[in-house]
Parts: sequence; structure tokens; C-alpha cells
Amino acid sequence: MSEPRFFEESELVSVLTSQPLDQMLDYKAPSGGCWQGDFVEVPLGPRKILGVIWCAGKGDFEYNKVRSVIRILDVVPMQPSMQEFLRRVSDYTLSPMHTMLRLATRAPGLGDPASMRHVYRKGQAEAGRMTDARLRVLAVLQNSHDLSFTLKELAEAANATTAVVKGLVKVGAVEEVTTPRDTPFPVLNPSLSGKSLSEDQAHAVTQLRSSDAGYHTTLLKGVTGSGKTEVYLEAVADCLKQGRQALVLLPEIALTAEFLTRVEGRFGAKPAEWHSGVTMTERRRTWKMVGEGHAQMVVGARSALFLPFQNLGLIVVDEEHDSSYKQEDGVLYNARDMAVLRASLVGGQVVLASATPSLESWVNVEAGKYKKIELNSRFGKAVMPSLAAIDMRQEKLPGDRWISDSLKKMVETRIQSGEQSLLFINRRGYAPITLCRSCGNQVGCDNCDARMVEHRFSNRLMCHQCGETKPVPSACPSCDAVGRLAVVGPGVERLAEEATELFPEAKVAVLSSDLYGSARALKAQILALASGSADVIIGTQLVAKGHNFPLLTLVGVIDADLGLQGSDLRAAERTFQLMRQVAGRAGRADKPGTAVLQTHQPEHPVIEAILGGDEEAFWRAEASEREAAGVPPYGRMVGIILSSTDPQEASEFGKAMASNILPLNKIGAEVFGPAPAPISRIRGRYRVRLLIKANKSVPIQSAISEWVSQFKTPKSLRLSIDIDPQSFY
Ligand code: ADP
Ligand code: ZN
Repeated sequence: MSEPRFFEESELVSVLTSQPLDQMLDYKAPSGGCWQGDFVEVPLGPRKILGVIWCAGKGDFEYNKVRSVIRILDVVPMQPSMQEFLRRVSDYTLSPMHTMLRLATRAPGLGDPASMRHVYRKGQAEAGRMTDARLRVLAVLQNSHDLSFTLKELAEAANATTAVVKGLVKVGAVEEVTTPRDTPFPVLNPSLSGKSLSEDQAHAVTQLRSSDAGYHTTLLKGVTGSGKTEVYLEAVADCLKQGRQALVLLPEIALTAEFLTRVEGRFGAKPAEWHSGVTMTERRRTWKMVGEGHAQMVVGARSALFLPFQNLGLIVVDEEHDSSYKQEDGVLYNARDMAVLRASLVGGQVVLASATPSLESWVNVEAGKYKKIELNSRFGKAVMPSLAAIDMRQEKLPGDRWISDSLKKMVETRIQSGEQSLLFINRRGYAPITLCRSCGNQVGCDNCDARMVEHRFSNRLMCHQCGETKPVPSACPSCDAVGRLAVVGPGVERLAEEATELFPEAKVAVLSSDLYGSARALKAQILALASGSADVIIGTQLVAKGHNFPLLTLVGVIDADLGLQGSDLRAAERTFQLMRQVAGRAGRADKPGTAVLQTHQPEHPVIEAILGGDEEAFWRAEASEREAAGVPPYGRMVGIILSSTDPQEASEFGKAMASNILPLNKIGAEVFGPAPAPISRIRGRYRVRLLIKANKSVPIQSAISEWVSQFKTPKSLRLSIDIDPQSFY
């Protein structure tokens, strides 16, 4: 990457801002000049806004009218490789540059002067007159040697008012010290000895190490419980030893305290964190320290990819197949793919870890683009769970029960021996459908084309699209019949009710994302469950991810057929991955586990593949089907979603687009639609989709942007372009 350029005072520079303009703006370099990449404040109309010195100015405006950069901010400049990264992500996703800058500056107060804050420590003097509150404050300071408290933190910790603390400062018993607000992260020590590795793990580490220096990507495929984390932490250690920074990406829900503790165990200190649960203050600290090189390792959700690393040497994408790596609003990027791009621009290494890799990565290994390392057995005494189907056609359950007798017996055995069972159903709430037995109406959302789902814990109906809730009605909203509403089908809450009836002596707990007020409360609950607070856990897909339940020896999948319905091109792949992941929760410690799938179609090829365990065969079959159909990863797809409060407008616009497709014809792409989206209305906006299919090797982005630019979108219409769509709703 080329060195940044210097601009003399008054020279024209082009500045990227996060304002929704379709171009960058020219300014004059400030007195003293500035560097390419400097974060600056520039005037825009009456306002002052944040920007980055991007390149030389274009000189489109009369020089005399061009205004000057106001000031250079006291943060580390954006590196040329980061500029290039943002440009490439923008080109790939067809998102305007200003949205990229927003992704790259998602921390508050970057423009604030190097800010200081007061912290409070034990002072030299005696407190003089003593009160209980004063004693508590001094005790807190006494007992926490190196911690520094802000005024508020100290008062809270001591259960005293801030006035008490200030009184102690006045007499000198507490000292007020001024320190920089953003402090470096504790130093990680990569030379501490890690866990002693199994032979398999050691071999995998050697293979990771033998990779050449410079950019490369490795798929680390290992069954659940094989110890992939220990293996990639060795890659992190190598990276830190070279003085480079490491980034570990995890799906949001897998970002647990347990994981951070594991890192601490390996390197002697906790890494920086970046996810939605991190406070704004901590975000700014992380952003700045990553930029200054004072955060050696970041553990984060997908947007951590846009942090201003100074010297990034490694990106690990754990659970690389997880669909949550695709951002579904704003800039529609796939963090896994963009991680590969980012690493390639800085000569770094990528490790993609998964027990059930995506077909995309599988194909990249086949093509020789990625290297593959496999871990085929579980660590220690743990063995892979045995898998079996329960044929629901034989079980003859009544319509309002979902736990078969066979499964019930298995759970009872576990309860008797003090082991845990997990009953898995991928549906939140009590029941997915509320039906009127008089008129047949299914209660729907007023704003969306979606059914309202009953949530009995909160005693409301909820729309899973827009989050709208309303009380459970006593009369049918459509025909007014009273007492005729019935719920149909199971959700986690209803299943818990059934389990409580079937296993009256057992402790039954529900684990579903909507039952806990915060991510923290949810994680606390996961931890409690892992240590044995329940005998039977009823869970949605979030139990499938990244947490160990040592006492869990039985997994029962209530409806293995659920994901196979629908026409999503990844339905088979996703079901396979999810079922394997859920099953993998069983028997992670010394007791062997069992997983059973309740299914109405045990001979379905996907169900057979899950049970048979011949993954290679499954992936090959799946790959050849996709290849024959010319769909990803063998062909390219782009989704266009048009939405408007006026259904006519969206569909007319879609038709106009579909009848002017010269730029797409030129690259031989096919256009499908417009058609109402499967969820044809969300939050009151009607949605229409087009789908473009093309050969893998064609320049799809430039064709799409040429095509789209032919049409002028009215203000009332939203057009979004989804390159490599993961969801088709
Ligand atoms: P995966 O990510 O492949 O599912 P983990 O890395 O979470 O597997 O490891 C599974 C369990 O085995 C964890 O509890 C982990 O602490 C333990 N483990 C893995 N490797 C080792 C090792 N070399 N020494 C001790 N414990 C290990
Ligand atoms: Zn809704």
C-alpha cells in the first residue's frame, strides 16, 4: 500500500464525510498542512462535521469559494489500507462511501479534545470526623488497590452520595487525580504456556504455523468440542509475538464471559470487546486504543472488522457458517467475506473456524483458494453424540402434544441420573398461530404481512417482523366471535408447559432470546443452566451456539422438518448445520451424549445425511445440485428490494426496472420478478423483490449499478441492493 500523501496549506483536498452526499467535497488544507487519512472537522453550511482527508481535491469549484478544513482531530489517521478497504467494500456492496465512513467511525466523541477525567484514590490525610458513609467510601478504596473510580462509580460502590466523596476530597482523605479518559488495555502475554494440546490439536497448530507469511486463509474444520478455540488461540499467540494485532469475530450471542475468561487464561489479561452490549465510553476507548496499537486483541461481533487496526496480522472468524455474519440492514456486507478482503489488504492471515462450514468455504477449499485443517475427534474423553431419528408417523401423538413417548422415556432416564436434557425448537413464543374457530381468520400484524405470535409470559401477541405487540384479544378481530380463538402449533413456551406436565418432578427452564431484558441477563441465565440449574432446558437456536453444557447428555429436536420447508436455496444446508450444531451440544464432557430428531420424513435425504454423518457426501450432493442450478456458490445472485407505503408504486417501479435491462443483458444475467416479497409488507411498507442471477465470472456490480442508475427513485420509494443475499424474505 502506498504511503500517505502530504498536502501543503491551502492545497485542495477531497474530504469524505458521513453526510449523505453522492460525492466527496473539496476543502483547502489547514494551516500547517495535513496528511491523507487525517480525521478532520470541516464546515458544511452552518455546521461542523467529521471527515477524512481522502485524496487530492478535484478542483471542480471556484478556488476562492472553497472553504478550509477547520482542524485536524487528535486521533490516529486512517491508514491507506483502511481507505482501500472501505473503497472495496463500497464497490462490492454497492453502498455509498459515506455509509462506509459511518461504519468505520462507530464510536462517539472522536472529535472531542484528548479528554481527561477525574478519578479518585485514597489520600494521605485522616478523614477527621467519621460517619458510616465516609467509612464505606474509604473501605472501598482500601480494598481495591489499583482500581480507579470515577466519582459516580465510587459513590455507588460505597452506597454513599457524591457529596460524601467530595467532602473527603476536601479534607485530603481522598485524592482526586486527573487521567486521560481512554486508557490502554492491559498487556496480553503470548508467551504464557497454554493448555497442553492433544496430538490432533498440536498437529493442527503446526499446520497453521507452516503457512507462508503474508495473506492466506485457512478453514479450520473441527467437530463440536474438538477444541478449535485452543488451536486458533495459538495462532493469536503467534500473531501477538510478531507485534501484530489479532481480531476474533464471533456471532453476537457467542460473545460470552466464558470466552473472555478463556482468553484471559491463555494470555493473562482480557482482550478488548466490541459488540452491542459495550457502553459508549468503552467503545470510544476501544476504537482509539485499537488505532494507537494499545489493544492487541479484539473479540467482537461483525462490525469490529471496521476498527482502525494499526497492524492487523490475524482475523479469526469463528462459526464462519453463521448467517448472522451477514448484516441485513444499512450496508449489506458479509463479515466473513470482508474479513478475507481486509486481511488480504494488510498481508494478514484468516482462520475460518466451524464444525459445519458454509458451502462457500467448502468450495473455496476445493478450488485451492483456502487451505483446510481438520480436527476429527472431540477433546479428551468426550465422544461424538450418537444420532437417531424418531419416526413421528409411528408415535401417533394427539394434535396438541409434541414430545413423543420415546423422547419422554429418554428424558426421564436422564432426570433420574441427574443429567440434563435439551428440547430444541426453533420458535419463540407460545404458539405461532392464533386462529379463530368461527371464521378461520389467523390474527395478523396490522403493519406487516405476518402472523402475530402469542407470548404467554408477557401475555401479548407479538409480530416477529416489526416487534409490534398487542394484548391477546378475547374476541376475534375479524368476526368479533367471543371465546373462539385457539392457538395452533408449538413455540418454546408451550413446549415448556408440556414438559412441566410430563416431568412434574423436574426443573424445567426456557432459554429464548426474548425472555431476558438484556444480553447480560441472557448470558447469566446460560451460565446458570450450564452449571445445572435445570434438568430440562427448552431452547431456541441460541442454545445451539458456542456454549458448553457439561451436564447435557440428551438433545431432542422437536421438529427436525421445520427448516426443510420453504424454498430458500440454503434450506438444506442450514438445516444440516443447525441440527449438527444442536446435536453437538450433547455429551461435551465425560458422559457420552445422544441426539434424537423427531421427524415425519426420516427418509428425507437431508435427515438421512444428518443421521448418517457422512458429511462429505452431503456436501458433494448439495454442491452438485447448486452447480447444476447455477446458484451460489457457483453462480452470483443479487436481490433488489423495493419498498413503499404505496403498493402500486413499488410494483410499477419494479416493472419499469425489469423492462429496461440492457446493462444486465450485456453480461448475460437473468432477471426474475418483480414479485411481492414473501413477507410482502413490513412496518407498513409494501415490498417487491427482483432477483438477478449471473455467471460467477461476470462484473456484476458494475452492470447492476449501471442498470439501477437509469432509474430515478422517488423519495417515497426505498431501493436496496443485496449482493450475495443470504435471506430472501
Ligand atoms: P470447539 O470450539 O471445537 O467446539 P472448544 O475449543 O470449545 O471446542 O473445546 C471444547 C472443550 O474442551 C472446552 O471446554 C475446552 O476448554 C476443552 N479443551 C479443548 N482443548 C483442550 C486442551 N488442549 N486442554 C484442556 N482442555 C481443552
Ligand atoms: Zn409487524
